[in-house]
Amino acid sequence: RGRYGSSRMRLVAQADGETSFDYLVIGAGSGGIASARRAAGYGAKVAVVERAALGGTCVNVGCVPKKVMFNAASINEMLHEANHHGFTVSSSFDWSTIKTYRDNYIKRLNGIYFRNIENSGVKLIEGLATFTGPNSVRVGDRKYSAKNILIAVGGRPTMPDIPGAEHAINSDGFFQLEEMPKKVAVVGAGYIAVEMAGIFNALGSDTTLFVRGETALRKFDEMLRTHLDAEMRRQGMEIVNYSSPKSISKGADGKLTLETEGGMKYGPFDTILMATGRKPVTDLLNLDAAGVAKDSKGYIPVDEYSATNVPGVYAVGDVIGNVELTPTAIAAGRRLADRLFNGMPGARAYYDNVPTVIFSHPPIGTVGLSEEEAKAKYGDNNVKTYRSTFVNLYYGPFQIPPEEKPKSIVKLICEGQNERVVGLHVIGMGSDELLQGFGVAIKMGCTKADLDDCIAIHPTAAEEVVTLP
Ligand code: FAD
Ligand code: NDP
Repeated sequence: RGRYGSSRMRLVAQADGETSFDYLVIGAGSGGIASARRAAGYGAKVAVVERAALGGTCVNVGCVPKKVMFNAASINEMLHEANHHGFTVSSSFDWSTIKTYRDNYIKRLNGIYFRNIENSGVKLIEGLATFTGPNSVRVGDRKYSAKNILIAVGGRPTMPDIPGAEHAINSDGFFQLEEMPKKVAVVGAGYIAVEMAGIFNALGSDTTLFVRGETALRKFDEMLRTHLDAEMRRQGMEIVNYSSPKSISKGADGKLTLETEGGMKYGPFDTILMATGRKPVTDLLNLDAAGVAKDSKGYIPVDEYSATNVPGVYAVGDVIGNVELTPTAIAAGRRLADRLFNGMPGARAYYDNVPTVIFSHPPIGTVGLSEEEAKAKYGDNNVKTYRSTFVNLYYGPFQIPPEEKPKSIVKLICEGQNERVVGLHVIGMGSDELLQGFGVAIKMGCTKADLDDCIAIHPTAAEEVVTLP
């Protein structure tokens, strides 16, 4: 039985002896699979090359296992709050159990991806692809050619180059942890840092987050940054700001100490997780053989139609370094297949107004421009913001003083006389699930008046967006 739980795994392209395709996709992650299957649906002869598990980052070491852990963490929060709704609950949590269930789930998904690929008529070639020319790649000892080649190889985590970095784990290592660290340090200030620190903290690890700036999420609206910082601290997380990692040392007992620039030492920690960014996996592709250009950070520059500098070679997803999210990789991959194999010359993905959720505790939903970005683009006098701070009804019956109840915040950014909505930022319970529909409205160019015209759904968190003063 193969990796995907099926003896039919052997029905890969190698076995068929096929070496020439209309479309060869390198990387069976979010963008690659979506594009390959869409192209095959149009009748193209398609192969996808994958060197690891099907589904790529999102399925194996990203969105999916992360959301499982976010859910576990949210359940723990609710169990600890259930007494405010009349329950008497005693609970215990076993990290290794959820890890086993999660791993089994991911394995099942790998199998589903395999069957989907097979059912779409896409040939799977297992191994590492390297270019041998603009229309050809090598996988193992075989050479394949295609009129069109898509590079969808994604990225991998980076680590700061500091002494002792080998003692730390990255986000891939997070998913290998067999037990919950009692005391953990998370270094970094982006999506992954706040999400993983939030999971540890909500599950009961003694968690310290180290950020280089004043707060995490430097690129996001100031309201989101400051409120998340306050909420994470309120939930018991320690946050050390203005701190850069300098070295990590390991004691005889296996415990880790983190030294920051300036000589401060923190620890001992059971685990140090570096969430300090990702880089594209272009170093393994032998791009020079095809003449495909990459920038100084290894990303592949593409035009708005996902075309690289070499005719017939395209790139989508994290490898282009634009909006590094699964749905953008999928959208770009599918639009490209629409264009190449279904006669839709204008098909392309758009990278503005992409709604995104940060699965922090509490979650954040955000789309469009921050207030700072809107003012820089349209001028201070042409930007109007609306804001509502409220307590989610979930916390209504809690037996704590009103001022101690967690607050949610909605912030709407509008531009011009018509008050066209150019940004929406929400933090608090339910922000993750409420954003998608507003993303559609904003994409369609809605104004504040359009939102006001929509009758609220009561009682929900989402109604706050259509009842802003
Ligand atoms: P990938 O999904 O990374 O796929 C690339 C594939 O190419 C991999 O399978 C790799 O093995 C293969 N490959 C690489 N080089 C070669 C080669 N030379 N030959 C053959 N195969 C090769 N996004 C969201 O939208 N929501 C989330 O909640 C979310 N959470 C995340 C959490 C974490 C911890 C991480 C790390 C990322 C998260 N992301 C999330 C981002 C999301 O996972 C990526 O944006 C998405 O997976 C990118 O898809 P891709 O197709 O570009 O690349
Ligand atoms: P990000 O680019 O979002 O963040 C990297 C962080 O690392 C930055 O905050 C940066 O800090 C910090 N950093 C970099 N170098 C150092 C250093 N030497 N010391 C300390 N801090 C450092 O990357 P992530 O890896 O968190 O996520 C990658 C991408 O994956 C995201 O941008 C997102 O597109 C996607 N993703 C999406 C998720 C979702 O949709 N929910 C979840 C997870 C990932 P500073 O701000 O100070 O520069």
